Amino acid sequence: MSSTLQRLTSSYAKHLPLAEDACKFLTASPDPFHAVAECVKKLEQAGFRALQNKAAFTGNLEAGGKYYYTVHQSTLVAFTVGQKYVPGQGGFHVIGGHTDSPNLKVKPRSLKPPKNGCIMLGVECYGGGLWNTWFDRDLGISGKILVRSPDGKIESKLVNITDPVARVSNLCIHLQSGEERKAFKVNKEDHTSPILATEAEMKKVLEESTEEQLNKTEDSWKSQQEPLLLQLIAEKLGIPVEQIADFELNLYDTQGAALGGVAKEFLYSARLDNLATVFVAMEAILAHTKDGLADDEDIKVVVFFDHEEVGSDSSHGAGSPVIEEAIRRISAGLGSGADSPDLYAQTINKSFILSIDQAHAVHPNYAGKHEATHAPKMNAGLVIKTNQNQRYATNGVTGFVLRELARMGSLPIQEFCVRNDCPCGSTIGPTISTRTGVRTVDAGMPQLSMHSCREVMGTMDLTHGVELFKTFFKRFRELDEKMDF
Ligand SMILES: [Zn+2]
Repeated sequence: MSSTLQRLTSSYAKHLPLAEDACKFLTASPDPFHAVAECVKKLEQAGFRALQNKAAFTGNLEAGGKYYYTVHQSTLVAFTVGQKYVPGQGGFHVIGGHTDSPNLKVKPRSLKPPKNGCIMLGVECYGGGLWNTWFDRDLGISGKILVRSPDGKIESKLVNITDPVARVSNLCIHLQSGEERKAFKVNKEDHTSPILATEAEMKKVLEESTEEQLNKTEDSWKSQQEPLLLQLIAEKLGIPVEQIADFELNLYDTQGAALGGVAKEFLYSARLDNLATVFVAMEAILAHTKDGLADDEDIKVVVFFDHEEVGSDSSHGAGSPVIEEAIRRISAGLGSGADSPDLYAQTINKSFILSIDQAHAVHPNYAGKHEATHAPKMNAGLVIKTNQNQRYATNGVTGFVLRELARMGSLPIQEFCVRNDCPCGSTIGPTISTRTGVRTVDAGMPQLSMHSCREVMGTMDLTHGVELFKTFFKRFRELDEKMDF
């Protein structure tokens, strides 16, 4: 007779291969650039063709094709064209998410004067992080580097310094007053600078060295950068420091994603909001290309935007022209006359967007924060988010569509609606539905610790997500044809 633990463990076992893949993806994606690059690897392996943003789509698209393109390397659009797609008759079935998460970004001038024997890095808080969770973590540095090659070209390269080279330390409890102990307050300017090294030994090394000191460089940009940071990057990329022209870098927790709980029912990781969605949506579109394209009459899209955490207003955030431009360019590229207002409106009205962002599971220690009848639980299915004040894009019809798809796929679904006395977050949903006029529902997988340096969700909800998204791709048209309004 097996124990309860053994039985519990075995009921989660079938979800583990997917969860382990999710761990690999999350660990390999410490920032939006790496997240997009990881997706691109998967797309290329599955035979998706790269489109060039700067070149025409017209003449490069065909029915049955699979394509992708990136915008500024941190926003990604990937899509498939059904074999039976007829211009004007097919719609865009879109799953949208975001690639960014709150983190510490390196400031344009990373050099700080050494302070009390410590060499520190200038950083800026990006998004609404729970900054207290960034203290006492072993931090790596990753992002994008612009490299000046000897032939005068400027190349963009990704860098990931996976060693824990930086750390933001807590003040010990002994030096805190009673008041300070009660309220852990972070001053984002004064308290978040990470320590990279100590000064004493470095002074000796510099005195003994005959090398030209880096911060004596003629290059005014380089003279404002922390030399140790530039040397770390140069070493990692195998290039001389002189070739580093600029960067966009952030810090991240080097602890990789892991499965936990007594039966491995939890996924612990940074950036679940919203890379868990990116992972699940990718699984769904890759699965669709395996068996769904032959009978498909529509365009299936996954789009992952940067800059959601800071309000989506940027050249490639959800508030940018990216989504509308994608619909217009892909339609035009397939000869559906996107320049005809009538055909374009027809396409828009046949389209549907799942705006997917992580949802707030009820926290057992803070259960009062949820309204009891709208309190989603982990491992119990995707959550439809509704807010009549339009912080979420869901309405009666679009919510019904997702509930109905869940019924069609025999999948659990949960509901979230914030308490009337509590502020409500938002997502890309209201932004992209406003920009395009496409019917949109907001939903997501439930998690705890949102915007912490380390978050948690249920492993079974990854399966729920993949299955629901696959059902959306496979059966949305069938459902839409039943709705004559
Ligand atoms: Zn999010």
